[in-house]
Amino acid sequence: MLSPGLFLFVAAKSMGKRLQLRLTTACNNHCVHCTLQDIRDLRLPDRPIHDIYKWLDWGRAKHHCDEVVLLRGEATIRPDIGRVCRYAQRLGYSLVQVQSNGRRFADPSFTAYMARCGMTDAEVDLYGSDATLHDTLARTPGAFEQTLRGWDNLLAQNLTVRVNIPLLSANLSSLTSMIYLVSAAGIRDIQLHFVRPVPGSGLAHLTTLNHIRLPVFSALALGSTLGLRITTEAIPFCVLGTNREHATDADSPAHFAASTVVVDLHRTVTDLNELRAEYRQTPAICTTCRWVESCPKTWTSYVELHGEEELRPESL
Ligand code: SF4
Repeated sequence: MLSPGLFLFVAAKSMGKRLQLRLTTACNNHCVHCTLQDIRDLRLPDRPIHDIYKWLDWGRAKHHCDEVVLLRGEATIRPDIGRVCRYAQRLGYSLVQVQSNGRRFADPSFTAYMARCGMTDAEVDLYGSDATLHDTLARTPGAFEQTLRGWDNLLAQNLTVRVNIPLLSANLSSLTSMIYLVSAAGIRDIQLHFVRPVPGSGLAHLTTLNHIRLPVFSALALGSTLGLRITTEAIPFCVLGTNREHATDADSPAHFAASTVVVDLHRTVTDLNELRAEYRQTPAICTTCRWVESCPKTWTSYVELHGEEELRPESL
């Protein structure tokens, strides 16, 4: 089975075309919910540096990408990560984002080095509002403290930081505390990520659409009050209700197809609708819904586990 790992349908923050490139599935955290488990099972080797350069060239020359996202696993544990960013910058990518658990950025000299190499953005995960919860979910003692120091160091380098919050059964009651924490750190961009169920990862730690509804409403309201950009991923319109504008993964198929190319370790996809059809299949109940084209829907694997009962089509 093929899988994109962590997700890919979120629209670019600018009008640029985006290359999503995976370098590794290795990581220095051991998160309970890790969505990379299915491609880890394929035992794919890390991408060699010459291959990374080749795909960065391809993204610029063939697809006119001006943004590159280095996907999870944890790309910062590669010793050549600075060279990758520098090469991307020299090719003309105006956005060079690293998805990360943030721990390596706890080292200010490493963060400064990455900024000098051309990294412009970081998307950093947060699992809990305190060390006990975050470290338990990351199964990594000390992770919380390192991640928060990482935020500070990234901001000190004037890099753009987004915090990605995976929604888990254990952290829903802490969601508003997490929003306050991020805001107090000076970060203005948060993504609430409904986690894709992956065989072999901790399904018992995941939650349901019904359970996230009220915590997500409260988090969106708080984020907006605090003046944050707060977005959602893989949460359908019928769960978001009047909060639909927060779903940055809602889009027309035509724009989707043209927005992003994905180079995973095992697969290359140049039309994002191909992945959407596979990982966000349209449930049968949605075909009668007025939002069927633009709704982000949720994970195919979630609907396979839980059925369609939580979905509420609106009449055409
Ligand atoms: S019923 Fe389906 S298409 Fe309609 S809002 Fe819900 S998930 Fe989206």
